[in-house]
Amino acid sequence: MLDTLHRIVQEVTRANDLGKALQLLTSGVRKAIQADVCSVYLTDFDSREHVLAATEGLRPEAVGKVRLPMHRGLIGLVAERAEPLNLDDATSHPRYLYIPHTGETEYHGFLGVPIIQYRTVLGVLVVRQQQPRQFEDEEVTFLFTLAAQLAGAIKHAQASGELATLTNRRSSGSHFMEGRGSATGVAIGTGLVTYETADLGAVPDRAARDIPAERQRLLDAVDAVENELQRMKQRLADTLSCEDQALFDALIMMLNSDSLITRTIELIDEGNWAPAALRDTIGEHARIFDAMEDRYLRERGSDVRNLGNRVLKHLELTEPGGSSNPTRFPEQTILVGDEISVMQLAEVPREKLVGLVSARGSNSSHVAILARAMGIPAVMGVSDLPVNRMEARELIIDGYRGRVYVSPPPSVFDEYQRLADEERALSHELQALRELPAETVDGVRIPLMLNTGLVLEQQTIGAADAEGIGLYRTELPFMVRDSFPGENVQTINYHRVISEFAPRPVTLRILDIGGDKPLPYFPIEESNPFLGWRGIRILLDHPEIFLTQIRAMLRASVGFDNLHIMLPMITLLSEVDDALNLIHRAHDELIEEGYELNMPKLGVMIEVPAAAYQAEALAERVDFISIGSNDLTQYLLAVDRNNSHVARLYDDLHPVVLQTIRQITTAATAHDTPVSICGELAGNPAAAPLLLGMGVSSLSMSSGSLLRVKAVIRATSLPRARELLRGAMRCHDGDCVRKLMEHALDSLGLGGLVRPGR
Ligand code: PEP
Ligand code: MG
Repeated sequence: MLDTLHRIVQEVTRANDLGKALQLLTSGVRKAIQADVCSVYLTDFDSREHVLAATEGLRPEAVGKVRLPMHRGLIGLVAERAEPLNLDDATSHPRYLYIPHTGETEYHGFLGVPIIQYRTVLGVLVVRQQQPRQFEDEEVTFLFTLAAQLAGAIKHAQASGELATLTNRRSSGSHFMEGRGSATGVAIGTGLVTYETADLGAVPDRAARDIPAERQRLLDAVDAVENELQRMKQRLADTLSCEDQALFDALIMMLNSDSLITRTIELIDEGNWAPAALRDTIGEHARIFDAMEDRYLRERGSDVRNLGNRVLKHLELTEPGGSSNPTRFPEQTILVGDEISVMQLAEVPREKLVGLVSARGSNSSHVAILARAMGIPAVMGVSDLPVNRMEARELIIDGYRGRVYVSPPPSVFDEYQRLADEERALSHELQALRELPAETVDGVRIPLMLNTGLVLEQQTIGAADAEGIGLYRTELPFMVRDSFPGENVQTINYHRVISEFAPRPVTLRILDIGGDKPLPYFPIEESNPFLGWRGIRILLDHPEIFLTQIRAMLRASVGFDNLHIMLPMITLLSEVDDALNLIHRAHDELIEEGYELNMPKLGVMIEVPAAAYQAEALAERVDFISIGSNDLTQYLLAVDRNNSHVARLYDDLHPVVLQTIRQITTAATAHDTPVSICGELAGNPAAAPLLLGMGVSSLSMSSGSLLRVKAVIRATSLPRARELLRGAMRCHDGDCVRKLMEHALDSLGLGGLVRPGR
């Protein structure tokens, strides 16, 4: 049964559309359980009905026609209770409902399991038997497992409008997919799918521009792979037995088979580009093998996929213009990906990039931080996103509410067009604040600093508007190389930023690798990277890396007096002591070598609850404290900042996060140690009055947030900020804090800073 389950799961996950997936599933299940009928009902939330969407055993014509009101019948009961129902004689149950037009005779045995995703029942998977039958426990869990697999595919279909077709309804078109609003703003544009090259499964549909050329590209790629295989066979001729060599012949035969080439060409002729046409034929072939009972033959499915990936590699080499071709990018590009890397983002010409959507990642993943720095609306963690069907689709992104609309109807389009116009007007108005200080109406000034370092900027964005750099992430030059950068290369980098900003302060953070920032040449295999070897932990274990970086920072500061050095991921006091010793050692050595140096200001980041509890002892040891609210939130709430499954639990406005920040601030100010916030919370206009009310000394944020936060500070007063803080501290959750602050910003006429429209 396990084998069968595995096979059905594979088939269902590989099916290209929900209709096909349901068909495969119902026929597979009916056979495996030897039931008379297997059906899937999907919930139509608009009409409040459960609609028969696939069946094996009932009349096929009933699909899409049988519609059961939500709270009626046994199907309704399974959905209502959100748990399985296993009855040996369904007809004697008070909720039994006889539905004549399905071709049903009386079915006695009944097993229904709900299809659930994120607490919502999306449908019911049901098997039925004419004879009375109590289904076994393992049959119940079998259906359970399959229902869980289906949930994702159903959400995909809902978002792309396919579900409306399946349930025989006109799509209202105003469906949207939800993720986390990771960079505010609204964007209207055209989807461009970015994917890991040489992964056939990830290839998106894309209209072929030149059908004959696509055909030729396919044939050339197939030829190239055939040559490769021939060469491999010859190379291994002495080592392989005749039987093993025959494997190559089989692969070559498969490659040249009519069913593979002719079918792929047919799909190209229908208008898809060669890689996607290949994806579909290879998928169809591999599925045939996957479905075979014989284990040996089943494994041939992966040979077919490998073959497909090889052909794909050659197709990529001949892609017209390749990925760098600017005409490939729509004028208003919305970049879509399963997971988008900083490098993939950087590939899109800046003037064409208007938005970002990804199935994985969350607000505080580094690509989201980068989107904010660039002022590009982003929605991350859209786990239902049917990525490979998003190419060239018209998309709307609402970065405030975390929504993505696919091919929206004119009413939604017009509404968002209006919001986008208002946004532009707002940004324009904010420009008037550029020369003005971040000062409250009662004269309290709070320096607004810049977070930077993640982008390879020529000119640091927002440099003119910031009072210094509160966080310079030094990881990027380490991430884009294939070995550690040396002391001289680092010195040049740091000198550029120190001199550009002088005399304004520049806070360089020492290397914070590990977690979600691995280095390709320093692999770390861990099951819990965020609780593992990261930040200061690595650097103290590798003093040679640490000392090289510190020496570079110190040498870069010769002639200037604005350098601040900051230590990330501090958990123990001893880590601070050890790190400070190393910094003093590097400083003394450089003085001995003849460098004329000032001692930089030294600080720690508080990102770990243990450090928050020892804020006072930390404050005694250093010149400044900076609170990394991104990590602090993840560790306080025990929510992985990159995991889209728990993204809705990640909330840096949670009262516990605010309370912790307040405690740190109180403890540090008792020692006259300044406290800044450099996590994303600092750039949230809704949080600014609260942080001001706590008495933090400065805020450091992405350039896109500077003027927005300034607008709020200039409109508020210290007593009002303290009053709002008291209100927030009475809240029990982040939503309560958000509502309170949205209301407060509305009353200042600044609601448009935290949600679309004014
Ligand atoms: C933080 O954790 O808040 C922070 C600023 O550091 P990073 O986002 O780079 O981990
Ligand atoms: Mg951090």
